Amino acid sequence: MLKAITFDLDDTLWDNGPVMARTEQVHYDWLDQQAHHAERFPLSEYVARREAMAQRYPLRRGDFTFLRHEALLSILQDHGLPDHDARRLVAETIDYMLTLRHEVTLYDESLPLLETLAENYRLGAITNGNVDVRRVVDATLFDVVINAGEIHAPKPDARAFLAALARMRATAGESLHVGDSWKEDALPALRLGMNVAWIDRRGSGSPIEHPRLHRLAHVRELPDVIEALTQ
Ligand SMILES: [Mg+2]
Repeated sequence: MLKAITFDLDDTLWDNGPVMARTEQVHYDWLDQQAHHAERFPLSEYVARREAMAQRYPLRRGDFTFLRHEALLSILQDHGLPDHDARRLVAETIDYMLTLRHEVTLYDESLPLLETLAENYRLGAITNGNVDVRRVVDATLFDVVINAGEIHAPKPDARAFLAALARMRATAGESLHVGDSWKEDALPALRLGMNVAWIDRRGSGSPIEHPRLHRLAHVRELPDVIEALTQ
């Protein structure tokens, strides 16, 4: 019997590409208006420093807000800002970045789907990103929200899934995970014994066939999978 459904967020409930592109440019430009640093330290340097921070703090490689914070701080310090000013500006920039990051546009079908499913199933969100889904939709829709990178267990780490299942009081076999990444969503959930709705956005086809694996082109097709699972 199906009891619980967990959702990936980015590129599952909304198209994440445009949000990230805008977030990246707009908060860096905003900081430049305050610190006038971007001529010396262009956006590419910010990206490179985030990658360097992920190497330096491997346990926190999935905590993108932390990596951005550390990269921005190192840039402003190298630009010669006093530590106090640099820290204050970085804190403000990160706040603004998170505001932009949450300006997502859900697919038309996402919200009605979640509202309908919430009537019959426990719902969970498991993301590697830094969106708090409770800032995007009604907080009561989800029983469990896990930002896996921020707890140092980014998917495909099984711990994020196991924590969600424990908190939803459902076994793997009573659960369905919905996500667009083969490596971070479909495969780990399948290995744990969950049912999987894999959103194959690029139409690349499943690397393997499995009776618990269902391939969709879009989250709007989810009701068909659930109907098949509950027959
Ligand atoms: Mg995703």
